[in-house]
Amino acid sequence: MTATIFQNTQIDTNAAYLLTDSRQLVFPQQTIFFAINGARHDGHQFVAELYKKGVRQFVIEQKSLDNKLLATIESFENARIWSVDSSLKALQNVAKRHRAQFDIPVIGITGSNGKTIVKEWLGQLLSADYRTVKSPKSYNSQIGVPLSVWQMNDTHTLGIFEAGISQIHEMKALQEIIQPSIGIFTNIGSAHDEGFRSRKQKVTEKLRLFTQCNQLIYRADYTDIDEEINLILKSVNPKCELISWGSSENCLIQAEWHQDTEQTYVVLKSAVETYDNQLFAVPFTDEASVENCIHCLILLLTLGIPSAEIRQRIGRLRPISMRLELKEGINNCYLIDDTYNNDLVGLTIALNFLSQQEQRTQKVAILSDLLQTGQKEDELYTQINTLLHEKGVQKLIAIGEAFKRNAQFIKVEAQYFTTTNDFLAKLSTHSFRDSLVLIKGARPFQFERIVHRLQQKVHGTVLEINLDALTHNLNFYRNRVGNDTRIMVMVKAFAYGSGSAEVAQLLQFHRVDYLAVAYTDEGVQLRQNGIELPIMVMNPSPSTFEKLIEYQLEPEIYSHKILDEWLSFQYSGPTTEEEVKDEMQEVPIHIKLDTGMHRLGFTEVDLPLLIHKLQQFPTLKVASVFSHLAGADEAIHNEFTRSQYERFVSGASLLEQALGYQPLRHILNSAGIVRFPDYKLDMVRLGIGLYGVEVNRLEQRALQQIGTFKTVVSQVKHLPAGETIGYSRNGILEKASSIATIAIGYADGFDRRFSKGVGKVLINGALCPVVGNVCMDMTMVDATGVTVQEGDEVIIFGNDLPIVQLADQIGTISYELLTGISERVKRVFYKE
Ligand SMILES: *Cc1c(COP(=O)(O)O)cnc(C)c1O
Repeated sequence: MTATIFQNTQIDTNAAYLLTDSRQLVFPQQTIFFAINGARHDGHQFVAELYKKGVRQFVIEQKSLDNKLLATIESFENARIWSVDSSLKALQNVAKRHRAQFDIPVIGITGSNGKTIVKEWLGQLLSADYRTVKSPKSYNSQIGVPLSVWQMNDTHTLGIFEAGISQIHEMKALQEIIQPSIGIFTNIGSAHDEGFRSRKQKVTEKLRLFTQCNQLIYRADYTDIDEEINLILKSVNPKCELISWGSSENCLIQAEWHQDTEQTYVVLKSAVETYDNQLFAVPFTDEASVENCIHCLILLLTLGIPSAEIRQRIGRLRPISMRLELKEGINNCYLIDDTYNNDLVGLTIALNFLSQQEQRTQKVAILSDLLQTGQKEDELYTQINTLLHEKGVQKLIAIGEAFKRNAQFIKVEAQYFTTTNDFLAKLSTHSFRDSLVLIKGARPFQFERIVHRLQQKVHGTVLEINLDALTHNLNFYRNRVGNDTRIMVMVKAFAYGSGSAEVAQLLQFHRVDYLAVAYTDEGVQLRQNGIELPIMVMNPSPSTFEKLIEYQLEPEIYSHKILDEWLSFQYSGPTTEEEVKDEMQEVPIHIKLDTGMHRLGFTEVDLPLLIHKLQQFPTLKVASVFSHLAGADEAIHNEFTRSQYERFVSGASLLEQALGYQPLRHILNSAGIVRFPDYKLDMVRLGIGLYGVEVNRLEQRALQQIGTFKTVVSQVKHLPAGETIGYSRNGILEKASSIATIAIGYADGFDRRFSKGVGKVLINGALCPVVGNVCMDMTMVDATGVTVQEGDEVIIFGNDLPIVQLADQIGTISYELLTGISERVKRVFYKE
């Protein structure tokens, strides 16, 4: 039977899974795919591929239904296809109808910060009273919310969902999908200000989440929130009980607190008895955690949980790291550390991440039971088995009673343990080798203890790389260049110090078009780590040609000398003409033109001979022609940049004529993408911008810093005036001082030019200047007046101390600081 195509009708799917990202397919027969035409990917491109993998239900958009797509779907057999105006709207409608089937309390959370933490804490605090369904991770967007709500089933007795918006008119849809009965408005800050006319408008938009709520909890100290609620929500939703808290007398609940070093004692007073005269000890002292905790406390009181119970449960809360970290383990292993919770969606996300990593072929998962899924165990563990299988897990370590009970459903090689302790008792240092190990467990299983055992001991200095920030920056440049221009990403010099294999994995996952490295060995290393993207090598020495071909790396050809060597190499091996042809076609080359940088490249006078040679060897495949700008970031060189561009375009067109086809043309680096968008041609070469530095300093705010370079305090000394510090007695104390020795030196990449007060590091929020000379492995800093003890964290650069500032202090550029971070410094990669 051929495909059935429904036009603009309600989608009555029997699928169990909603899919919007083709890469996350697991259960094809039970999946419906929504082809969404997003800013970066068009889902319609993946329809044919998904059909091949077994998907039989599709939602597509009428406006994308061109002849090609029509022909494709008409060839489908036994498929059901809904053609709609908007796939996103259709997805949201499906979720909305699903939600409407359940009549249970649902908590809807919005606000600028803390949504995910409040949601997770509530899940934990209420686990004894309810079977909860909640948003996985921070699935709070226009797509994330429908996917979250879709998880609801008959067994759940409470829903907790978060809603995030970045521009006007987005909240209405989320309200209709979540239909919260109880609201929490966490706070308001500057996030996404750019999407709104004013802070007030943003608050008003967020309030739309609560138009049908019976109760709303919010902190009235945020006057924007308080005013808009009284002005607008009161008239839109007069029946909503407003549970305001804060310092003012006018709040329903007055909250006060005081702290010692470990806890905060919160006192609530109210005219309403439920909230009056309540005292709680909260195990945090930072402002944000205390605020998040109070939201939770008040919600629990509102639900009628006894105060004594609440006091106990609150005491057990721990800070939440929602981060998924990739780090080096013992015995040449890589660990994926995701120890906070374990539900099916979270597990799917983590396994997707595991399957994206090609650094090691042996893949192991250490998993705890899944708690509170509300699903029948046989179904659940059958699903887990499929997931493990699909995502390439070869070996499972399963911890918990439920896993043991359901072992018959697990077909991958597995070992079972009842408790984490049982497993730790059997774990030896030889248990894992050369493997990629996912460690994912529900909170009560305390899997951080397993991580601790398997992790390579870090000597204190680490460079943490935020993979989400990297993705954010990539998307910023993608939006700048648009869909018609390709992106080559420069991962030379260990990906600007950030770790080439891991960064390249992420870029491969996000489907960039090309990678470039400086030397052949860098390319070989990427291939050995499973990178399959095309890779250009900018400085390929002839002694490495053999390797280039073996690893399918594409050389930059920049002079007649290297061209001749390439040609003679190609001809010296194979003996028959056919073989020559075959090989030549396999590895394309890239031709570099020198238009004024005067580093590498053919100059204008070299062109006639180059053209002659290209014509002589028609089998030589030229993938691209490119050039490099010498001053793209500086306005004084604009004229020169323009002339470089013109010389390049005319040189490239001469080559094109000679070749009879059009190789890709590219000239822009990161700075150029921002300042010369008209020159983007067929491809751009993104470098430093991906790593978070906007060298023009025009768009720095749009980028996120990806790295945090940190170390620890090794020792603290209190010394009198007149003492001297370090080699050559170069630091002289003019007054009594506290000196902290930190575990970083110039051998780690902390430049010696930071000596004698030039450099400053952050310890517990305070800037501490370097005293005396930076040593090889250590540095002394002045921490007078700062609360500091051994083991405290020290930030060299990070969000609160931008790398650009450091570069300015010693008169260099961020490039040098980043690439100067020694390879002995461990890199830790994480995702939120
Ligand atoms: C390094 C490099 C780039 C990238 O430059 P950024 O300033 O980091 O964007 C582009 N092209 C060539 C030839 C390079 O060597």
